[in-house]
Amino acid sequence: MSRIKRGDFLEKAALFRRQAEPFSLAEGYKLIILQVFSGLKRTASFDGFNLTESSSIRQCLLLLKRLNLPAKAVKYSDHVKVLFARCWEDLRLLSRLHDRIFGERRTPKDGSEYGFLLGYPRCCVERFYGGNHRGGRFGFPCEGRKRAQDGSLEVDYRLNRFSPICVVHHVPCGPDCRATIEWSDRILSLYKAYDPFLRRQAEAVLKKPVLLFGINHFLRFFDDIKKDRIFYDSVDAVNPKLFNEDEDLRVAGLLEQLGNGDQARFEKGSFSVFSGKKLLLKNTFSRQPYQLLRFV
Ligand SMILES: [Zn+2]
Repeated sequence: MSRIKRGDFLEKAALFRRQAEPFSLAEGYKLIILQVFSGLKRTASFDGFNLTESSSIRQCLLLLKRLNLPAKAVKYSDHVKVLFARCWEDLRLLSRLHDRIFGERRTPKDGSEYGFLLGYPRCCVERFYGGNHRGGRFGFPCEGRKRAQDGSLEVDYRLNRFSPICVVHHVPCGPDCRATIEWSDRILSLYKAYDPFLRRQAEAVLKKPVLLFGINHFLRFFDDIKKDRIFYDSVDAVNPKLFNEDEDLRVAGLLEQLGNGDQARFEKGSFSVFSGKKLLLKNTFSRQPYQLLRFV
């Protein structure tokens, strides 16, 4: 993570806004590119372009080229990743580490180097790659089973890595990680320089509750929790096809039922989903681990 002055942010953000404006790429992608373009991060990667998104992939690569940010697309059977950096040397290093991590010659040191290069805080990288990562890929690793069983956890909104306005990309080392909160503040300042309304909008979105499922899935609710329940008109889930485990298929079934409901009620160790007064689903912790994150 680099130290950048606020004045530099304004200049970089204004330049980025002019350059990126003609490109029809979702704002979420543009914001991550802005993080690298501004110098806050040395490198970044987009992991989940579907093959059907060829126009977005093309727009993304064209925008990176226009900004003089070296980039590389990596094609898989069902998705495309895009890696990019501030200079060719960093891109080569990122690409080499990426291939080792997702290949068979991975060492724990590769993981840490990869995390540092992506700009993640040291404490979080060491926790994630240090063999101490007991939580899922989306959860808070230092949360013990006891607290998870309660099913609900209140967390600083700046640690929300599930928001559609992406601020934090990495798994924070815990629900009180100061480094991630400071990092989030810096990103939010950059977003404010890019668009004066964006910071406020991002804060509102970051405060929406999120339900974690198993190790690979999360749902974003688009409403607030009132007492023990959330009334929602839509939920947003990560694409289960990105993962290939049996558990993911079971979770996909649950997600579909949640999508059919309009309210979820949370109790100790379980939650129920309703459509109006009709009970659609009761899920207990013993059947399927979950955790409700309330961002404050
Ligand atoms: Zn940390």
